[in-house]
Amino acid sequence: MPHLKHMGLGIWLLVCASLLPLSAFAWGHQGHMVVGALADQLLTPQARAGLQKDLGLTLQQAAPWADCAKGVGLGPRGFEYAADERWPSPACTRFETAQGTKAMQDYARRNWNTCGQPRDCHKAYHYTDVAYQHAEYLAGYVGANDHDLVHAINAAIAKLQGRPVPRPFSIASRGEALLLLAHFIGDLHQPLHVGAVYLDAQSEPVDPDVPGHSEVFETRGGNSLDAGHGSNLHALWDDIPDKLRADAIPASLLQEARALRRSRAAVGRWAQIWASDSVRTSTQVFAGLRFSPDAEQKGSRMWTVAFDDEAAYRDRLEQLQLHQLAKAGSRLAQLLNALYPAPR
Ligand SMILES: [Zn+2]
Repeated sequence: MPHLKHMGLGIWLLVCASLLPLSAFAWGHQGHMVVGALADQLLTPQARAGLQKDLGLTLQQAAPWADCAKGVGLGPRGFEYAADERWPSPACTRFETAQGTKAMQDYARRNWNTCGQPRDCHKAYHYTDVAYQHAEYLAGYVGANDHDLVHAINAAIAKLQGRPVPRPFSIASRGEALLLLAHFIGDLHQPLHVGAVYLDAQSEPVDPDVPGHSEVFETRGGNSLDAGHGSNLHALWDDIPDKLRADAIPASLLQEARALRRSRAAVGRWAQIWASDSVRTSTQVFAGLRFSPDAEQKGSRMWTVAFDDEAAYRDRLEQLQLHQLAKAGSRLAQLLNALYPAPR
């Protein structure tokens, strides 16, 4: 544990923060469904047939599942699913049948306290928190761990390749692995699910992997950064334009997804390569922002964000969101096409 000494309170906050629910769904269901809809249009016939056989859903339909499953809690009567009333969504309705509810409860139960947390391990599969100052994702960096988003994607790939699924993940079937990939590839392209800003006692950004800081605080994927207008920075980036919908994908977005070059590396390295791309992208998320301490919320430190130029920032945000959604759709299809190769 080389970071314990200089991280001090930071480590404690990291541990606590991982127990707190995120205040919004990544990309929202809408963004995840856009990613799925893009990928659906880029699948090979083999991948489409494999998806149908192993899951029986389109990627657009499958994409929200891992967020829907966050509605499972452990009560006196065991694991029980309850629809999240804060974000009621028809996207989860298809999974709320007796059989579908049982499947979500079963997934949450198998991925509950297997990662060193007392509960909700599967919620940690949706993100990693590598400092944006880095040029790449490395498993040894502060904020990365064996149950983060990159490892979760690799676990789902292992299942679909017929290899053992590494701990702490439990993936019951090829269908469940597909549900996870359809969602996690989307999360991997929301920059705040991968790149993070860490702040020192003066609220200045610091690289927590460089020793010597007396205090380093993490910012929970931007959930601890109040961006004004009732929104935090994470939610600001989740929120995609209303006009962008899975059932009306703009031709330009599909074209961009189609044009993205396929990774030449082995499939097993894609998650890390794509995470590294998102870490570099996250530099743009934090450019032009300043932070100042705010009142704590529910025992969690908060900061207020000041923008150098908020209008310009919001323009840049929308452009970047579109690029990230196109990349995510393209790469989700690339992955499935590689996992269901054409017969030789
Ligand atoms: Zn997610």
